[in-house]
Amino acid sequence: MRLLEAIIDANNRAVAGDQDAGLHPSEFAEELPIVALTCIDPRLNSLFPQVLGVLPEQFIWLRNAGNIITGPTSSTMRSLALACAVKGGKEIVIIGHTDCLVGKTTTMQLLERLRAIGVERHALPDNINEFFGIFSSERQNVIKATDIARHSPLLGPKIPIHGLMVDVQTGKLEWIVNGYQALDMMSTRWNEVVQSAGQTMDALKSLTDFNIGEMKFPETKIGEVVTKTEDWLSSQVKKLEIKKPVAVPEALAAAPPKIPLPPPIRPRVILRKGSAK
Ligand SMILES: [Zn+2]
Repeated sequence: MRLLEAIIDANNRAVAGDQDAGLHPSEFAEELPIVALTCIDPRLNSLFPQVLGVLPEQFIWLRNAGNIITGPTSSTMRSLALACAVKGGKEIVIIGHTDCLVGKTTTMQLLERLRAIGVERHALPDNINEFFGIFSSERQNVIKATDIARHSPLLGPKIPIHGLMVDVQTGKLEWIVNGYQALDMMSTRWNEVVQSAGQTMDALKSLTDFNIGEMKFPETKIGEVVTKTEDWLSSQVKKLEIKKPVAVPEALAAAPPKIPLPPPIRPRVILRKGSAK
């Protein structure tokens, strides 16, 4: 079981009344500390990190109004990147909560409330909703934030980024975005690259046949050399291959994570094999 699977499992069992439900953080030493982005709502103060089952020293807590990520290089994104790079965070969870006021405030209400604290309309940008990241659905907001973070150039492909919802009444967690699946998607992309690398290897192999044919190996049979070369090449390709994903949900497949990939290399060398007399 991976860290987030264990966290959700323990949390849901505890909420259902299981007295023995809990996480054994020592089993997840490699996957901790965890980095969480939540809303500023004070009702969350007493919930974290207990609802995750991790110790306070394994919990890096970032907060902003509405747990919003406005852009791939925004201030919050920079903090998430440093939380991982400098403070050793291993996984990121973006946690929305039920009954979030950022999601319930209309544009008119927001303008009124800002005016009440002395901020006039002309001092604010035109696109006030976008500017503050006002959202209508707490769940959609979490999905959007995890998507922006997953595509951010400030986070590499090694950090899972999950999206959760927490119920402010019960502390129950709900898994909205599974960050492990997004990482598995990336490994699929890598396998495609490895496959095209394999084609290149085939081309090289043919080339090797040719070179070996031209060279003289007085004490070795040419066939042996070719076989050994083939073995070596296929073992090199195998080394490059990485774990295949289990299943990819359609939502993720529709928007594959954009990672920079080298252009596919097409083999140019085509040699006939087995036709020599
Ligand atoms: Zn909130």
